[in-house]
Amino acid sequence: MKGRVFSGARPTGKQHIGNYLGAIQNYVKLQEEYECIYCIVDIHSLTTMEDVSNMQGNIHEMIVDWLAAGLDPDKSVLFVQSHVPEVMELHTLLSMVTPLGWLLRVPTFKEKARMQPQNVNYGLVGYPVLMTSDIVLYKADAVPVGEDQLPHLELAREIVRRFKDMFSPVFPEPQARVTSSPLVLGLDGVNKMSKSLDNQVDMAATPEETEKRLKAAYTDPQRRYRSDPGRPEICNIYKLHGFFDPENMADIAERCRSARIGCVECKKMLAQAINTTLQPFREKRADIAANPEYVKEVLDDGARRARIMAGETLGEVKEAMHLL
Ligand code: SF4
Repeated sequence: MKGRVFSGARPTGKQHIGNYLGAIQNYVKLQEEYECIYCIVDIHSLTTMEDVSNMQGNIHEMIVDWLAAGLDPDKSVLFVQSHVPEVMELHTLLSMVTPLGWLLRVPTFKEKARMQPQNVNYGLVGYPVLMTSDIVLYKADAVPVGEDQLPHLELAREIVRRFKDMFSPVFPEPQARVTSSPLVLGLDGVNKMSKSLDNQVDMAATPEETEKRLKAAYTDPQRRYRSDPGRPEICNIYKLHGFFDPENMADIAERCRSARIGCVECKKMLAQAINTTLQPFREKRADIAANPEYVKEVLDDGARRARIMAGETLGEVKEAMHLL
């Protein structure tokens, strides 16, 4: 029997190439090995000061991108977190077994509290309990995480162990499936690619938009003139070539160092490589986007399947906690 993987992502709307290289490609691969449960975590978005007025639009764009990129509703359960209200019930129940001290020590809580001092809400401190509920409600065996997220998963495992000690072993301890996803920097060449920093290239951008976005990207600041030799090793455009155009890396590096290629031409080559790679995705995306009924069906069916698993787990939890 296949193991079960859970992963959640906030509804950030159209996905960019950083999402694609860092998470989506891995999600698609995992489908072959695991029973995958992929969730758009809309409730988590409410804990921070993000603008949530376009939540429904963002959920729609994101699931369209996921489907076009290869997430397959026949292989994976794809749904929206709040469509399975059992997660909120489990969150309340697990909050009774989670010591407050554990939550106050979480580094991301301290960081978020610093970033939004005017809104240090209860949901922010309880975030890891909701995250744990997301994972254990479906009895996931594994969670794909980067090295930086390991402490969060460890906290989830501690909550599971505490529940087991206080009541019974309802949940499996979720294991980390550490994935070394590449760090994809944005067009500023400094920060991680992110929509909030407006330094991204959307997967669904047209070829013209892709070229235009890349035109504004930072390169080697030492190349003030076309005749200046460049340093590909410090240039983010060069790194992006590595993802989309690896066979040309040596040639580009050599031509950059000897000033035989200018940044304008180099960026055009990158745009072409990205456009070629993403063309099948973009065609499929256009078909899916033209059929919003299908998208709704996928999410409704995903929530229905998720609720069956959730209901069973919640029944066991209530029984263990003497609520039934
Ligand atoms: Fe970067 Fe290419 Fe310009 Fe060299 S030629 S600095 S690799 S964009």
